[in-house]
Amino acid sequence: MRRFLKDRERISFSKLKREIIDPGICTLCGACVASCEVLSIAAGKPALKGRCTACGVCYNQCPRTITTESSLIGKVRDVFTAKSLLSEVKGQDGGVVTSMLLYALEDGLIDSAVMTVKSEDEPWKPVSIVAQTSEDILRSAGSIYVHSLTMESLLSSIKRGSRSIGFVGPPCNIDAVHKMQNSPYGLLHL
Ligand SMILES: Cc1cc2nc3c(=O)[nH]c(=O)nc-3n(C[C@H](O)[C@H](O)[C@H](O)COP(=O)(O)OP(=O)(O)OC[C@H]3O[C@@H](n4cnc5c(N)ncnc54)[C@H](O)[C@@H]3O)c2cc1C
Ligand code: SF4
Ligand code: SF4
Repeated sequence: MRRFLKDRERISFSKLKREIIDPGICTLCGACVASCEVLSIAAGKPALKGRCTACGVCYNQCPRTITTESSLIGKVRDVFTAKSLLSEVKGQDGGVVTSMLLYALEDGLIDSAVMTVKSEDEPWKPVSIVAQTSEDILRSAGSIYVHSLTMESLLSSIKRGSRSIGFVGPPCNIDAVHKMQNSPYGLLHL
């Protein structure tokens, strides 16, 4: 009976706030906000703006909760150094990320890609976009060394019906995507 009750424990936003947000280990990946209608970013932190039903989605979606050793780096099959030969690609380093996405889109492996561009008004700020053309992918090349809310774009793209989506992001965002794919809660709110 005790095990049954434990399994049925309800997890509310307050647990996420207490364990992740308040101690300052939230990376602001935006996965919790993108997964729930009653959450938003306020004063630079995820915050509750409505009634929490304690469904546990935000807690289970957060890449900072229940981090296991194997999830820290993932499975590395091989390591390469490479440089793109495409003259139109102006990448940050070898332009490999941009070139691979161009190939994937042109070959039909993906229908879109979540990427990051500079804000037009404030060019030091990143803006996450869903690239659907080669032009979008080319203009997303290069790194902006500020955190980008890529998860919102990913979830809005899934809601619009995309199913083959390329995703570019730093490790905390990749962790969130990985969790979304593997968690039974991951797509519950879509
Ligand atoms: C915030 C941040 C910190 C990084 N820190 C390091 C580091 O410490 N050491 C290291 O070796 N490399 C770091 N990188 C990676 C490095 O800058 C290059 O992105 C990487 O080497 C790939 O090079 P490329 O020429 O193939 O990429 P490109 O072909 O230029 O493609 C870059 C891709 O990154 C995306 N992007 C740009 N800015 C962001 C952002 N803020 N969030 C999410 N996606 C973004 C673009 O949309 C594009 O798809 C960092 C990247 C970011 C975004
Ligand atoms: S995802 Fe569920 S637990 Fe988290 S804030 Fe929303 S309703 Fe509450
Ligand atoms: S899901 Fe992302 S934004 Fe939300 S608390 Fe966790 S790290 Fe922060």
